Amino acid sequence: MTIYNFSAGPAVLPHEVLQQAQAELLDWHGSGMSVMEMSHRGKEYMGIHAQAIADLRELMGIPVNYKVMFLQGGAHLQFSMIPLNLLRGKASADYVNTGEWSKKAIGEARKFGKVNEVVSSADRNFSYVPAFNTWQRDPNAAYLHYTTNETIGGVEFGWVPDTGDVPLVADMSSNILSRPYDVSRFGLIYAGAQKNIGPAGLAVVIVREDLLGQAAANTPTMLDYKIHADGDSMYNTPPTYGIYMSGLVFQWLKKNGGIAAMEQVNIAKAKLLYDAIDASNGFYNCPVAKADRSRMNVPFALKDAALDGDFLKQADACGLLQLKGHRSVGGMRASIYNAMPLAGVQALVNFMHEFAKQHG
Ligand SMILES: *Cc1c(COP(=O)(O)O)cnc(C)c1O
Repeated sequence: MTIYNFSAGPAVLPHEVLQQAQAELLDWHGSGMSVMEMSHRGKEYMGIHAQAIADLRELMGIPVNYKVMFLQGGAHLQFSMIPLNLLRGKASADYVNTGEWSKKAIGEARKFGKVNEVVSSADRNFSYVPAFNTWQRDPNAAYLHYTTNETIGGVEFGWVPDTGDVPLVADMSSNILSRPYDVSRFGLIYAGAQKNIGPAGLAVVIVREDLLGQAAANTPTMLDYKIHADGDSMYNTPPTYGIYMSGLVFQWLKKNGGIAAMEQVNIAKAKLLYDAIDASNGFYNCPVAKADRSRMNVPFALKDAALDGDFLKQADACGLLQLKGHRSVGGMRASIYNAMPLAGVQALVNFMHEFAKQHG
Protein backbone atom coordinates (compact mmCIF):
# COMPACT_ATOMS: atom_id res chain seq x y z
CA MET A 1 0.00 0.00 0.00
CA THR A 2 1.25 3.48 -0.84
CA ILE A 3 1.35 5.72 2.21
CA TYR A 4 0.49 9.40 1.94
CA ASN A 5 1.41 11.61 4.87
CA PHE A 6 -0.70 14.77 5.31
CA SER A 7 1.06 16.00 8.46
CA ALA A 8 1.24 19.78 8.95
CA GLY A 9 4.84 19.52 10.15
CA PRO A 10 7.25 17.92 10.44
CA ALA A 11 5.90 16.87 7.11
CA VAL A 12 6.37 14.63 4.11
CA LEU A 13 9.71 14.82 2.28
CA PRO A 14 10.24 13.86 -1.37
CA HIS A 15 10.69 10.11 -1.60
CA GLU A 16 13.68 10.49 -3.94
CA VAL A 17 15.39 12.75 -1.42
CA LEU A 18 14.98 10.22 1.38
CA GLN A 19 16.36 7.50 -0.89
CA GLN A 20 19.37 9.60 -1.79
CA ALA A 21 20.00 10.37 1.88
CA GLN A 22 19.78 6.67 2.60
CA ALA A 23 22.26 5.82 -0.14
CA GLU A 24 24.68 8.48 1.15
CA LEU A 25 24.12 7.86 4.85
CA LEU A 26 27.25 5.84 5.64
CA ASP A 27 29.62 7.21 3.05
CA TRP A 28 29.01 10.61 1.51
CA HIS A 29 30.50 10.75 -2.00
CA GLY A 30 33.39 8.43 -1.18
CA SER A 31 34.50 10.51 1.80
CA GLY A 32 34.20 7.51 4.10
CA MET A 33 32.04 9.58 6.44
CA SER A 34 28.41 10.28 7.08
CA VAL A 35 27.47 13.96 6.72
CA MET A 36 26.56 13.76 10.42
CA GLU A 37 30.17 12.95 11.27
CA MET A 38 31.87 15.71 9.30
CA SER A 39 33.55 18.76 10.77
CA HIS A 40 31.56 21.81 9.78
CA ARG A 41 34.88 23.46 8.90
CA GLY A 42 36.01 20.62 6.63
CA LYS A 43 35.97 20.94 2.85
CA GLU A 44 33.25 18.31 2.37
CA TYR A 45 30.69 19.94 4.62
CA MET A 46 31.67 23.47 3.53
CA GLY A 47 30.85 22.40 -0.02
CA ILE A 48 27.45 21.01 0.99
CA HIS A 49 26.67 24.20 2.92
CA ALA A 50 27.68 26.57 0.11
CA GLN A 51 25.77 24.52 -2.48
CA ALA A 52 22.58 24.59 -0.40
CA ILE A 53 22.75 28.38 -0.12
CA ALA A 54 23.55 28.80 -3.82
CA ASP A 55 20.66 26.53 -4.83
CA LEU A 56 18.19 28.37 -2.59
CA ARG A 57 19.39 31.67 -4.04
CA GLU A 58 18.85 30.36 -7.55
CA LEU A 59 15.42 28.85 -6.80
CA MET A 60 14.05 31.99 -5.16
CA GLY A 61 15.97 34.50 -7.27
CA ILE A 62 17.41 36.07 -4.13
CA PRO A 63 19.15 39.37 -5.00
CA VAL A 64 22.84 39.87 -4.13
CA ASN A 65 22.09 42.43 -1.42
CA TYR A 66 20.33 39.78 0.68
CA LYS A 67 21.94 37.35 3.13
CA VAL A 68 20.71 33.78 3.46
CA MET A 69 21.08 32.20 6.89
CA PHE A 70 20.39 28.77 8.37
CA LEU A 71 19.62 29.27 12.05
CA GLN A 72 18.37 27.15 14.93
CA GLY A 73 15.39 27.63 17.22
CA GLY A 74 12.73 27.15 14.53
CA ALA A 75 10.36 29.86 13.44
CA HIS A 76 9.59 30.60 17.09
CA LEU A 77 13.00 32.07 17.78
CA GLN A 78 12.46 34.40 14.83
CA PHE A 79 9.45 35.84 16.67
CA SER A 80 12.04 37.20 19.16
CA MET A 81 14.98 37.85 16.84
CA ILE A 82 12.95 40.04 14.51
CA PRO A 83 12.02 42.72 17.07
CA LEU A 84 15.47 42.50 18.72
CA ASN A 85 17.20 43.15 15.41
CA LEU A 86 14.76 45.20 13.38
CA LEU A 87 13.14 47.66 15.81
CA ARG A 88 16.32 49.74 15.40
CA GLY A 89 15.33 52.25 18.09
CA LYS A 90 11.96 52.99 16.47
CA ALA A 91 8.84 53.39 18.55
CA SER A 92 6.79 50.49 17.22
CA ALA A 93 6.27 47.80 14.61
CA ASP A 94 3.17 46.96 12.57
CA TYR A 95 1.72 43.44 12.79
CA VAL A 96 -1.09 41.91 10.75
CA ASN A 97 -3.20 39.42 12.70
CA THR A 98 -4.64 36.66 10.54
CA GLY A 99 -4.57 33.75 12.97
CA GLU A 100 -2.67 31.55 15.40
CA TRP A 101 0.84 32.15 14.06
CA SER A 102 0.32 35.90 13.72
CA LYS A 103 -0.85 35.98 17.32
CA LYS A 104 2.26 34.16 18.50
CA ALA A 105 4.54 36.57 16.63
CA ILE A 106 2.64 39.53 18.08
CA GLY A 107 2.76 38.19 21.63
CA GLU A 108 6.51 37.77 21.48
CA ALA A 109 7.18 41.15 19.83
CA ARG A 110 5.27 42.87 22.66
CA LYS A 111 8.10 41.84 25.01
CA PHE A 112 10.52 44.03 23.06
CA GLY A 113 8.54 47.05 21.96
CA LYS A 114 5.21 48.50 21.01
CA VAL A 115 3.12 46.52 18.56
CA ASN A 116 0.58 48.22 16.36
CA GLU A 117 -1.92 45.58 15.26
CA VAL A 118 -2.83 47.08 11.89
CA VAL A 119 -5.73 44.76 11.23
CA SER A 120 -7.25 41.53 12.52
CA SER A 121 -9.54 38.93 11.02
CA ALA A 122 -10.72 37.79 14.46
CA ASP A 123 -14.20 39.16 13.68
CA ARG A 124 -14.81 36.16 11.40
CA ASN A 125 -12.75 33.63 13.31
CA PHE A 126 -9.63 34.21 11.20
CA SER A 127 -11.23 32.79 8.09
CA TYR A 128 -10.08 35.41 5.58
CA VAL A 129 -7.41 37.94 4.60
CA PRO A 130 -8.52 41.51 5.37
CA ALA A 131 -8.43 43.89 2.38
CA PHE A 132 -5.29 46.04 2.29
CA ASN A 133 -7.26 49.31 2.27
CA THR A 134 -8.61 48.50 5.76
CA TRP A 135 -5.15 48.25 7.36
CA GLN A 136 -4.28 51.00 9.88
CA ARG A 137 -0.60 51.26 9.07
CA ASP A 138 1.93 53.50 10.76
CA PRO A 139 4.21 55.18 8.18
CA ASN A 140 6.98 55.30 10.82
CA ALA A 141 6.77 51.63 11.79
CA ALA A 142 10.10 49.83 12.12
CA TYR A 143 8.68 47.08 9.89
CA LEU A 144 5.41 45.36 9.03
CA HIS A 145 5.08 41.67 9.89
CA TYR A 146 2.59 39.25 8.36
CA THR A 147 2.12 35.52 7.96
CA THR A 148 1.89 34.55 4.28
CA ASN A 149 0.15 31.28 5.10
CA GLU A 150 -1.64 30.51 8.36
CA THR A 151 -0.87 26.83 8.75
CA ILE A 152 -3.59 26.16 11.32
CA GLY A 153 -6.40 28.27 9.89
CA GLY A 154 -5.62 27.46 6.26
CA VAL A 155 -5.63 31.12 5.16
CA GLU A 156 -3.07 32.23 2.57
CA PHE A 157 -2.27 35.60 1.07
CA GLY A 158 -2.51 35.51 -2.72
CA TRP A 159 -0.84 38.93 -2.88
CA VAL A 160 2.06 40.81 -1.32
CA PRO A 161 1.31 43.99 0.66
CA ASP A 162 2.98 47.16 -0.60
CA THR A 163 4.40 48.84 2.50
CA GLY A 164 6.56 51.39 0.69
CA ASP A 165 9.64 52.27 2.73
CA VAL A 166 8.55 50.22 5.74
CA PRO A 167 10.43 46.89 5.54
CA LEU A 168 8.09 43.98 4.95
CA VAL A 169 8.74 40.95 7.17
CA ALA A 170 7.10 37.62 6.34
CA ASP A 171 6.66 34.35 8.17
CA MET A 172 6.69 31.95 5.21
CA SER A 173 7.11 28.81 7.30
CA SER A 174 4.38 26.86 5.57
CA ASN A 175 4.38 28.17 2.01
CA ILE A 176 7.97 29.10 1.17
CA LEU A 177 9.05 27.54 -2.15
CA SER A 178 5.44 26.66 -3.02
CA ARG A 179 4.89 29.70 -5.25
CA PRO A 180 7.17 32.40 -6.66
CA TYR A 181 7.85 35.46 -4.51
CA ASP A 182 9.69 38.59 -5.56
CA VAL A 183 12.22 38.62 -2.71
CA SER A 184 13.11 42.26 -3.39
CA ARG A 185 9.70 43.25 -2.02
CA PHE A 186 10.72 42.01 1.44
CA GLY A 187 13.03 43.23 4.18
CA LEU A 188 13.13 39.80 5.77
CA ILE A 189 11.67 36.37 5.05
CA TYR A 190 11.83 33.48 7.50
CA ALA A 191 10.62 29.92 7.60
CA GLY A 192 10.95 26.95 9.89
CA ALA A 193 12.24 24.13 7.70
CA GLN A 194 9.93 21.31 8.72
CA LYS A 195 6.98 22.19 6.49
CA ASN A 196 8.19 22.80 2.99
CA ILE A 197 11.99 22.62 3.15
CA GLY A 198 13.50 19.77 5.15
CA PRO A 199 13.69 18.17 8.58
CA ALA A 200 12.94 20.11 11.77
CA GLY A 201 15.85 21.79 13.48
CA LEU A 202 16.58 24.82 11.40
CA ALA A 203 15.03 28.00 10.15
CA VAL A 204 15.87 29.76 6.90
CA VAL A 205 16.22 33.53 7.17
CA ILE A 206 16.65 35.81 4.15
CA VAL A 207 17.40 39.40 5.07
CA ARG A 208 18.25 42.59 3.21
CA GLU A 209 21.75 43.66 4.18
CA ASP A 210 20.95 47.24 5.16
CA LEU A 211 18.77 45.91 8.01
CA LEU A 212 21.74 44.18 9.67
CA GLY A 213 23.97 45.56 12.39
CA GLN A 214 21.36 47.56 14.29
CA ALA A 215 20.34 45.05 16.95
CA ALA A 216 19.39 46.28 20.42
CA ALA A 217 22.48 46.74 22.63
CA ASN A 218 21.70 43.84 24.96
CA THR A 219 20.96 41.36 22.16
CA PRO A 220 22.53 37.98 22.96
CA THR A 221 25.27 37.15 20.48
CA MET A 222 23.41 34.10 19.22
CA LEU A 223 20.33 36.23 18.45
CA ASP A 224 22.16 38.87 16.42
CA TYR A 225 21.58 38.42 12.69
CA LYS A 226 24.81 40.22 11.84
CA ILE A 227 26.87 37.67 13.76
CA HIS A 228 25.33 34.82 11.77
CA ALA A 229 25.43 36.68 8.46
CA ASP A 230 29.10 37.56 8.88
CA GLY A 231 29.88 34.01 9.96
CA ASP A 232 28.01 32.52 6.98
CA SER A 233 25.74 30.66 9.44
CA MET A 234 28.83 29.05 11.00
CA TYR A 235 29.38 31.33 13.98
CA ASN A 236 28.75 28.21 16.01
CA THR A 237 28.17 24.65 14.84
CA PRO A 238 25.22 24.77 12.43
CA PRO A 239 22.57 22.02 12.19
CA THR A 240 24.65 20.31 9.53
CA TYR A 241 22.49 17.31 8.74
CA GLY A 242 19.33 19.40 8.43
CA ILE A 243 21.14 21.77 6.08
CA TYR A 244 22.37 18.81 4.00
CA MET A 245 18.82 17.42 3.77
CA SER A 246 17.43 20.83 2.86
CA GLY A 247 20.09 21.05 0.16
CA LEU A 248 18.88 17.75 -1.29
CA VAL A 249 15.34 19.16 -1.36
CA PHE A 250 16.59 22.27 -3.19
CA GLN A 251 18.24 20.03 -5.79
CA TRP A 252 15.03 18.01 -6.12
CA LEU A 253 13.11 21.25 -6.74
CA LYS A 254 15.61 22.34 -9.38
CA LYS A 255 15.36 18.95 -11.11
CA ASN A 256 11.58 19.22 -11.15
CA GLY A 257 11.32 22.58 -12.85
CA GLY A 258 11.80 24.92 -9.90
CA ILE A 259 9.19 26.93 -8.05
CA ALA A 260 7.11 27.93 -11.07
CA ALA A 261 6.54 24.27 -11.97
CA MET A 262 5.88 23.41 -8.33
CA GLU A 263 3.26 26.15 -8.16
CA GLN A 264 1.34 24.63 -11.06
CA VAL A 265 1.19 21.25 -9.33
CA ASN A 266 0.20 22.94 -6.06
CA ILE A 267 -2.65 24.77 -7.79
CA ALA A 268 -3.89 21.50 -9.30
CA LYS A 269 -3.68 19.63 -5.97
CA ALA A 270 -5.53 22.36 -4.05
CA LYS A 271 -8.23 22.63 -6.70
CA LEU A 272 -8.84 18.90 -6.64
CA LEU A 273 -9.32 18.87 -2.88
CA TYR A 274 -11.38 22.06 -2.51
CA ASP A 275 -13.59 21.04 -5.42
CA ALA A 276 -14.27 17.72 -3.68
CA ILE A 277 -15.18 19.52 -0.44
CA ASP A 278 -17.43 22.03 -2.22
CA ALA A 279 -19.15 19.31 -4.26
CA SER A 280 -20.01 17.19 -1.20
CA ASN A 281 -23.39 18.85 -0.54
CA GLY A 282 -22.19 19.99 2.85
CA PHE A 283 -20.93 16.59 4.00
CA TYR A 284 -17.51 18.28 4.11
CA ASN A 285 -17.08 21.95 4.73
CA CYS A 286 -14.11 24.35 4.62
CA PRO A 287 -14.65 27.53 6.65
CA VAL A 288 -12.12 29.69 4.77
CA ALA A 289 -13.20 32.42 2.31
CA LYS A 290 -12.69 31.02 -1.19
CA ALA A 291 -10.28 33.70 -2.38
CA ASP A 292 -8.01 33.18 0.63
CA ARG A 293 -7.90 29.40 0.83
CA SER A 294 -4.45 27.98 1.38
CA ARG A 295 -2.83 25.83 -1.27
CA MET A 296 -0.76 24.15 1.43
CA ASN A 297 -3.04 23.46 4.41
CA VAL A 298 -6.66 22.52 3.83
CA PRO A 299 -8.79 22.48 6.99
CA PHE A 300 -12.19 20.88 6.67
CA ALA A 301 -14.94 19.64 8.96
CA LEU A 302 -17.40 16.80 8.61
CA LYS A 303 -21.06 17.79 8.84
CA ASP A 304 -21.40 15.33 11.70
CA ALA A 305 -18.39 15.62 14.02
CA ALA A 306 -19.41 12.31 15.60
CA LEU A 307 -17.97 10.69 12.44
CA ASP A 308 -14.51 12.24 12.92
CA GLY A 309 -13.11 9.19 14.68
CA ASP A 310 -14.35 6.80 12.00
CA PHE A 311 -13.07 9.04 9.23
CA LEU A 312 -9.58 9.13 10.73
CA LYS A 313 -9.49 5.42 11.45
CA GLN A 314 -10.60 4.41 7.97
CA ALA A 315 -8.29 6.96 6.32
CA ASP A 316 -5.41 5.54 8.32
CA ALA A 317 -6.28 2.04 7.18
CA CYS A 318 -6.11 3.29 3.58
CA GLY A 319 -2.62 4.73 4.13
CA LEU A 320 -3.83 8.34 4.40
CA LEU A 321 -2.03 9.51 7.52
CA GLN A 322 -2.09 12.44 9.95
CA LEU A 323 -5.32 14.09 8.80
CA LYS A 324 -6.47 15.11 12.27
CA GLY A 325 -7.02 18.87 12.51
CA HIS A 326 -5.04 21.07 14.88
CA ARG A 327 -6.16 20.66 18.48
CA SER A 328 -7.34 24.29 18.61
CA VAL A 329 -9.62 23.86 15.56
CA GLY A 330 -10.72 20.24 15.52
CA GLY A 331 -12.02 18.52 12.39
CA MET A 332 -9.53 17.58 9.69
CA ARG A 333 -6.57 19.20 8.02
CA ALA A 334 -4.79 17.95 4.94
CA SER A 335 -1.38 19.51 4.44
CA ILE A 336 -0.36 19.18 0.82
CA TYR A 337 3.12 20.65 0.65
CA ASN A 338 5.46 20.45 -2.35
CA ALA A 339 6.47 16.88 -1.52
CA MET A 340 2.86 15.61 -1.60
CA PRO A 341 2.27 14.19 -5.09
CA LEU A 342 -0.95 14.79 -6.99
CA ALA A 343 -1.64 11.06 -6.65
CA GLY A 344 -1.79 11.49 -2.87
CA VAL A 345 -4.46 14.16 -3.10
CA GLN A 346 -6.34 12.02 -5.62
CA ALA A 347 -6.25 9.10 -3.19
CA LEU A 348 -7.59 11.34 -0.42
CA VAL A 349 -10.38 12.70 -2.62
CA ASN A 350 -11.39 9.17 -3.64
CA PHE A 351 -11.50 8.12 0.00
CA MET A 352 -13.54 11.18 1.01
CA HIS A 353 -16.02 10.46 -1.74
CA GLU A 354 -16.44 6.84 -0.65
CA PHE A 355 -16.74 7.79 3.00
CA ALA A 356 -19.43 10.39 2.25
CA LYS A 357 -21.33 7.81 0.16
CA GLN A 358 -21.30 5.36 3.07
CA HIS A 359 -22.37 7.89 5.68
CA GLY A 360 -24.25 10.60 3.76
C1 LIG B 1 5.03 25.79 12.19
C2 LIG B 1 4.99 27.27 12.12
C3 LIG B 1 5.68 28.08 13.03
C4 LIG B 1 6.47 27.50 14.18
O1 LIG B 1 7.57 26.78 13.77
P1 LIG B 1 8.61 26.16 14.83
O2 LIG B 1 9.73 25.75 13.93
O3 LIG B 1 7.92 25.03 15.51
O4 LIG B 1 9.00 27.23 15.77
C5 LIG B 1 5.60 29.45 12.87
N1 LIG B 1 4.90 30.01 11.89
C6 LIG B 1 4.20 29.26 11.00
C7 LIG B 1 3.44 29.94 9.91
C8 LIG B 1 4.23 27.88 11.09
O5 LIG B 1 3.55 27.13 10.19
